[in-house]
Amino acid sequence: MLMQTARPLGELENPTEFIPRHIGIEEADEQHMLSVIGEASRRALVESIVPRSIARAKPMQLPPPATEAAALKELRQIANRNQVFKSFIGQGYYGTHTPGVILRNILENPAWYTAYTPYQAEISQGRMEALVNFQTMVCDLTGMPIANASMLDEATAAAEAMTLAKRSVRSKSNTIVVAGDCHPQTIEVVQTRAAPLGLQVVLANSHEEWVKCLEGDYFAVLAQYPATSGRIDDLRADVEKAHSKQAAFIVAADLLALTLLVPPGEFDADIVVGTTQRFGMPMGAGGPHAAYLACRDDFKRSMPGRLVGVSVDSHGNPAYRLALQTREQHIRREKATSNICTAQVLPAVVASMYAVYHGPQGLKRIALRVASYTAILAKGLEQLGHKPRRESAFDTISLHTGEATKSCAARAVSMKANIRVAWEEYICISLDETTTREDIELLWSVFAKPGQALPKVADYEKGIEPLIPQALRRTSDFLTHPVFNTHHSETGMLRYIRALSDKDLALDRSMIPLGSCTMKLNATSEMIPITWPEFAHIHPFAPREQLQGYAMLDEQLRAWLCEATGYAGISLQPNAGSQGEYAGLLAIKAWHESKGQGHRNVCLIPSSAHGTNPASAQMVGMQVVVTACDDNGNVDMADLQAKCEQHKDKLACIMITYPSTHGVFEMQVKELCAMVHKYGGRVYVDGANMNALVGVAAPGEFGGDVSHLNLHKTFCIPHGGGGPGVGPVCVVEDLVPFLPGHATGGVADHGVGAVSAAPLGNAAVLPISWMYCRMMGAEGLRQATEVAILSANYISAKLRDHYPTLYASENGHVAHECILDLRPLKETSGVTAEDVAKRLIDYGFHAPTLSFPVPGTLMVEPTESETLDELDRFIGAMVAIREEIRRVEKGEWPQDDNPLKNAPHTAAALMKGEWQHAYPREAGAAVLDERRHAKYWPPIGRVDNVYGDRNLFCSCVPLAAYED
Ligand SMILES: *Cc1c(COP(=O)(O)O)cnc(C)c1O
Repeated sequence: MLMQTARPLGELENPTEFIPRHIGIEEADEQHMLSVIGEASRRALVESIVPRSIARAKPMQLPPPATEAAALKELRQIANRNQVFKSFIGQGYYGTHTPGVILRNILENPAWYTAYTPYQAEISQGRMEALVNFQTMVCDLTGMPIANASMLDEATAAAEAMTLAKRSVRSKSNTIVVAGDCHPQTIEVVQTRAAPLGLQVVLANSHEEWVKCLEGDYFAVLAQYPATSGRIDDLRADVEKAHSKQAAFIVAADLLALTLLVPPGEFDADIVVGTTQRFGMPMGAGGPHAAYLACRDDFKRSMPGRLVGVSVDSHGNPAYRLALQTREQHIRREKATSNICTAQVLPAVVASMYAVYHGPQGLKRIALRVASYTAILAKGLEQLGHKPRRESAFDTISLHTGEATKSCAARAVSMKANIRVAWEEYICISLDETTTREDIELLWSVFAKPGQALPKVADYEKGIEPLIPQALRRTSDFLTHPVFNTHHSETGMLRYIRALSDKDLALDRSMIPLGSCTMKLNATSEMIPITWPEFAHIHPFAPREQLQGYAMLDEQLRAWLCEATGYAGISLQPNAGSQGEYAGLLAIKAWHESKGQGHRNVCLIPSSAHGTNPASAQMVGMQVVVTACDDNGNVDMADLQAKCEQHKDKLACIMITYPSTHGVFEMQVKELCAMVHKYGGRVYVDGANMNALVGVAAPGEFGGDVSHLNLHKTFCIPHGGGGPGVGPVCVVEDLVPFLPGHATGGVADHGVGAVSAAPLGNAAVLPISWMYCRMMGAEGLRQATEVAILSANYISAKLRDHYPTLYASENGHVAHECILDLRPLKETSGVTAEDVAKRLIDYGFHAPTLSFPVPGTLMVEPTESETLDELDRFIGAMVAIREEIRRVEKGEWPQDDNPLKNAPHTAAALMKGEWQHAYPREAGAAVLDERRHAKYWPPIGRVDNVYGDRNLFCSCVPLAAYED
């Protein structure tokens, strides 16, 4: 048979071919799903749900969809506009060799990058082990007793350390002394964060100023170790001085340097922060990288961010879990220790694996090589007549170049190398793991006068000593735990990584129906560009001309997101949703101030809001006033009116989520916005639920003044096991001047200052969202929204007789997620929502969102990417679990011994000699469909949460704990 086509070949090219790859529901499925829901068409369903008053005036204006190949080709051209020069800039960002085994099996592996934050401990043991390794690594290298996992970047970590100190010390001062020799971006972010809290940042720009400042009154001191200019100060006396003032001493430290330097914990520092970027994460124009924060033991209950701890499971074995969650915003709201939700888990895993792979000896060898090259570089420069300013250095030396500064930097650029111009008349040069002898000789040639003979590395190599002062050389051991001393062959490492990921459930195994989190497809074509060298190996503060590709990516993505949201201006700098909230509220605050209304500081927040909202409001110094919700889950308009009236002179804004966290499109949202505007307040629309809006309605059109987006929800950046994310802040026209700036990165100095260390935040993951928009086009994005709504309504309808949906609009429909009400089951069977969540693990599913926003419920968000088959498999599991509950209700199984209470079941527990439960072994195993169900075996039984917090332990478990 011939296989010819009568039509022109062009017709076989289908630019929309990616859309059905992203959307799991096929056209043929839709009719069936709609009949279950009781609507005639997808369009009719959506029109019956989204209030007519907010429907988009016109479709989004985006480039037409492109195939995966075409989009990659176009992005390749953008990437090619970046120029990857050898970087000697330093300043917190260094070249690093990501070990191939880590690059391929973690950074590029969906088993790691598609996982969610480890709230469900039993299916997250692998990534939590990696995070405990991270915490142990940080503790060991800094010499501190406890560290978290992780912070968003070094600069925000320093700012969090500042507020941690403020909460913890006895000094009543509002002043923090900051050494002028800290990284400039760190100083900038600390200044941004201090201002709204009424904290004073005093910069000490010389040794004299430093000495004088330390004699004054302050609650904290921040110093960089080694300093940004490279010198290494002995801080011991300064720490003592600070302590005599009842103040905390914060050290921003470089982990690689700490393999050779006396760690801050050994000279009694109170808090140590820094980045782990050079442990295997590419520079990526500024992020994502994991930062760390370690502190003294008595500060631990006040620590910001996520902390993994060790507890026990139902069989008495060690088991990891997120510890001290009562500090976090989900529970503590505006009294939380920080607003951090999404952190930097994937980069933290990479950094920890880098330490596991190299081990203490390997790290020390890398550090020694860097330090020795630095000493050689210094010697050669001196021979050329450029004596470094300081005697001490680890990896950075600085030169006073005066008038010649610019021409030196330009000469380096002409040799495809970047060196750092600091304080206008100095040059700093930083070396790293990737530095070669050719690099050293190239650097010498930059500084050599015409005709001057160049030194040779070999001339100095013999007996070269690093420039680390004797008194500051490290003598203590680190990374002594077996995990850092075992997996040093590639085979061993490969198997260790695989063993950990096998313990976890991620999107590569089954759907993760987490409400509010939007666990959709992270397409491989979207992921591929992030490790292209043109995106990965570029320094955030490289000359602007070399960052043209990123500039174009930034510009196009912002334009598209403006289309999607209806806003006038966007900044991609915030590196998580929480940071977007913070930046947005800062913009509102600054706008009020610009109108002479700086006293407006009341932020109204409905009781159903996500915890980051009140936590962010607190960080900008706003007063949170909670407004009620009515019985249907909507904002109570009467209560809102009353609160507006009561606070009318001080009203700054309201923060709403739309569609609401209750999973419904509130009909009166336009009226709500108008009411707040009438009282002089601005409207913040939390954009976490944009997956129900893109192409259908735009917050910037229906009354929102500010939103943040979560590109790691709606726009396909994977969750990475709890980060990285990107949280762009979007504003209407009159707030555009108040978007974040970045003096260090040379981005507009208006605005509210820098909110992230790097001008483009987590720049290296932006290609993911770019690819998604480019391949979907306006129609594909709208279709995704509609199918997300369709799938949520299908699940809600199919489960109606088993688990009623708590909130719906008048016609019974929901938005893109639905809250299943499990509260009545407690009464009839003793079964809780948590039991159902744990039982789902036996059936091979990640639980839906548990007890948010309503305690005792499960919030299900299927997203558009799941197939009908998978939705039905999930529904099947939920129905099977309901049947099990019915057996408990009927008294067939006791309330305290049934498959739900004992879930999840490990293979070991099911196979143990004599079976002693009221239900059969087979029921415990929960194999739903033997033909298609690849059984997931949880590695541990249910984790004891209380034990873990009572006996807080946050480092690697000694092997003895595993022995009976
Ligand atoms: C996820 C989420 C946030 C916080 O975003 P992060 O990126 O995790 O900081 C805020 N609000 C809502 C409603 C969310 O679902």
